[in-house]
Amino acid sequence: MARVFNFSAGPAVLPETVLQQAAAEMLDWHGSGMSVMEMSHRGKEFISIHAEAEKDLRELLAVPANYKVLFLQGGAIAENAIVPMNLLRGRSVADYVNTGEWSKKSIKEAKKYCKVNVAASSEDKQFTYIPPQQDWKLSPDAGYVHICTNETIGGLEYHWVPDTGEVPLVADMSSHILSRPVDVKRYGLIYGGAQKNIGPAGLTVVIVREDLIGQAAAFTPSAFDYKLQAEADSMYNTPATYAIYIAGLVFKWVKQQGGLAEVERRNIAKAKLLYDYLDQSKFFLSPVEPRDRSRMNVPFKLRNEALDEEFLKGAKAAGMVQLKGHRSVGGMRASIYNAMPIEGVQRLVAYLREFEDKHGK
Ligand SMILES: *Cc1c(COP(=O)(O)O)cnc(C)c1O
Repeated sequence: MARVFNFSAGPAVLPETVLQQAAAEMLDWHGSGMSVMEMSHRGKEFISIHAEAEKDLRELLAVPANYKVLFLQGGAIAENAIVPMNLLRGRSVADYVNTGEWSKKSIKEAKKYCKVNVAASSEDKQFTYIPPQQDWKLSPDAGYVHICTNETIGGLEYHWVPDTGEVPLVADMSSHILSRPVDVKRYGLIYGGAQKNIGPAGLTVVIVREDLIGQAAAFTPSAFDYKLQAEADSMYNTPATYAIYIAGLVFKWVKQQGGLAEVERRNIAKAKLLYDYLDQSKFFLSPVEPRDRSRMNVPFKLRNEALDEEFLKGAKAAGMVQLKGHRSVGGMRASIYNAMPIEGVQRLVAYLREFEDKHGK
C-alpha cells in the first residue's frame, strides 16, 4: 500500500492511525457486533461515542461551561445562513470583515437576512493581508461581528483576536480549528466544517455562548435552531454519526500528540520550513503579507506560470498530490493541516529546490 502526501485543502489528510483504527472497528465496534454506521443514534453505544467526542473537544479547546458544543450538518456554507438566523436576535445589521473568498461568501449569504456592514476589507490588495483593527468601521448596533480566522483559499490567518466589546464575535474557523489553542471566551460563536482539520465532510462543529441562543428568527428551520439542537444534544435530527465517530478518534489523536500547544508548535515548524524556502527563492513566491500568513494553507506561485503543469506532474510523480491552487487565485497551494507530517513538508521543500535548480537558471 502506497499512501501519498495529500496537500488537499479539504476534504483533507487524516491521521493514519485514525484510519487504521476505523478500519479495524468497521465490522464490529467494541464487541457490539455492529459498525458505527449501523448504530441507532439513540442507542447507548453511539450516545457514548458522541458524549466522548464532545468531552474531548471541550477539553482540547478548554471550552468554558457556558458554551454549547453542537455537532450539526450543512457545513460552514450553511452556517453562513444559520448564523444570521440565530444571532441577529431582532437586530437588523451585522458587521463583516472581508478578507477573501470565504468572507465574500459569508457576506453574500448574510445579505439575505440583514443589512451587512463591511467593516473592513483587504480587497484593495487582492486579499493579501488582514486589515488591522484600528481601520475597522464597526456599527454600534450590530447583532455580531463576523470574521473568517483562516482564509483557506487566500492563505491568511488571524494571529490575534479582535476586540468587539459587547458585540459577539463570530468566527469561521473551518480550516484552522484544532491547529492551535483558542481563547474561546473571546468569541460569541465559533463554527467550522470538519473536513479540514477534524474529520470527514458532513459534520459541522458549532461552539456557541449560551446566552446568545434562543432568539432565532421565526422562520429558522428547526434543525438549524441552535436552541432546539442544544436541548436535543445535537440530535434534533439524526446527526452525522459516522463523521462524529471519526472526529472523536481525531480528538483522541490530538490529545495523544500532546494537545493543542504541541500541535501548534509542530504546525509553526512545518509552516516555517515552507515559507522560509519560498522567501529566499527567486523562482517561487508567496503573495501574502508575512505577519498574516496561514500556517495551514500556503498559497505560492511559480514566477513562470508556463511551468505550472510540469510542476504538478513532477510533484505527483514524487508522491505529492493536490497542490494546484484554487481556481479563483491560480498558482499552487499546499494545505498542511495537523495530519500532514513534517516529512511531507520536507519532501515538498526538497522538490521545490530540485525544480528551481532545474528550471530557475
Ligand atoms: C471549506 C470552507 C468552507 C466551506 O465549507 P462547506 O463544508 O463546503 O460548507 C467555508 N469556510 C471556510 C473557511 C472553509 O475553509
